[in-house]
Amino acid sequence: MKTKISEELRKRAVKVMPGGVNSPVRAFGAVNEIPRFIEKAKGAYIYDVDGNGYIDYVCSWGPMILGHNDERIVEEVKKQLEKGMSYGASTRAEVEMAELIASLVPCCEQVRMVNSGTEAVMSAVRLARGFTGRDKIIKFDGCYHGHSDMLLVKAGSGVLTQGIPGSAGVPEKCTADTLTAKYNDIDSVRSIFEKYPDEIACAVIEPVAGNMGVVLPEKDFLQKLRDICTKYGALLIFDEVITGFRLGIDGAAGRFGITPDLVTYGKIIGGGMPVGAYGGKSEIMKCVAPVGNVYQAGTLSGNPVAMAAGITQLKILAQEKGIYERLEKLGEKLRNGIKKAADDNNVKIRVNGIGSLSTIFFCENEVKDYESALRADTARYSQYFSGMLERGNYTAPSQFEAMFVSAAHTQEDIEKTISDIEEIFGK
Ligand SMILES: *Cc1c(COP(=O)(O)O)cnc(C)c1O
Repeated sequence: MKTKISEELRKRAVKVMPGGVNSPVRAFGAVNEIPRFIEKAKGAYIYDVDGNGYIDYVCSWGPMILGHNDERIVEEVKKQLEKGMSYGASTRAEVEMAELIASLVPCCEQVRMVNSGTEAVMSAVRLARGFTGRDKIIKFDGCYHGHSDMLLVKAGSGVLTQGIPGSAGVPEKCTADTLTAKYNDIDSVRSIFEKYPDEIACAVIEPVAGNMGVVLPEKDFLQKLRDICTKYGALLIFDEVITGFRLGIDGAAGRFGITPDLVTYGKIIGGGMPVGAYGGKSEIMKCVAPVGNVYQAGTLSGNPVAMAAGITQLKILAQEKGIYERLEKLGEKLRNGIKKAADDNNVKIRVNGIGSLSTIFFCENEVKDYESALRADTARYSQYFSGMLERGNYTAPSQFEAMFVSAAHTQEDIEKTISDIEEIFGK
């Protein structure tokens, strides 16, 4: 496989960009590979500057649920481009976007658009604090909510310890009110609430975790979390940046039948453009400026080009029959194929997944929280990753991420990938 041009670009990139990238995982540091510089993508395929094509299982980390460069989205974006790229004033598209989300997701009576998932969660937490008049927040080990200071927390040794910053540059004061609980462990949540019954503004969670690899909520865990938040007057925030409009048109909230107080979106909602959003009950959302006193703003928020892409993608997802069934079937087929390939070759792995999201964990133990995820063998993941890349499959360059399938993937694509995995496991 040729990589010459990618290597040249990499040399230039590292001189002028930290690590040669604008987001760390792209540096391929966890898998010891040459990061491929991408030139173009179409449908389920992505092509690098050296002319190699790959079946894409990253899908821009989720946004490209219809596959790359869906013509219907491109068409609407082009139309908007003719009319201008940004006005810094209200547009029809923003109203349509908010109406669309409100009509699709019952718990979102009102919505505020922002420019990234990070911004969405940061703003939702501020709103929860403003609404409740409380400062402490609960987050779960292994869940990622973007890179805002208060959410960049490494787990303390015990559940009741205060958050220790997981990054240099984050003052301890910024994470002192971030309390960490264990995913799928309701007792760890309960003991925090018992210690601080009147001080917790919200619990924020990925209803299906995607950022420690895919980890599913155990039966009733989310319902119990809902109940406990209600009991103590804390808001429940579902961070649906990955799961929103993916696990179904109404996301994880709809799929599991749980009503969060606030929801955050990103990725899919922008159709490939940089977009995020948060929403919830009007009673809570009316605390946001200019109606209320929780300040939050954005020069490019609700950008018309981004709205054109996002609205078009959401409408297709809402209207086209069979899309979610198709994503379920493709995901199921992939997972079953991987499991069979592992069994046939006596390779010990765990495959977690739901719908279009999957992760192969290179370990024998069940993976149900951050601790168990960390037992996976990252060196073996690396080998698998290189084998996949070599054979034309572009998967996440880290053990602790999801494998995404899009509606543009075909049965044949999945079959080819499975047979490549068989070959890799056979070695
Ligand atoms: C990606 C992600 C974010 C951050 O979104 P950005 O657009 O990268 O800022 C937040 N929460 C979850 C669950 C994510 O997967």
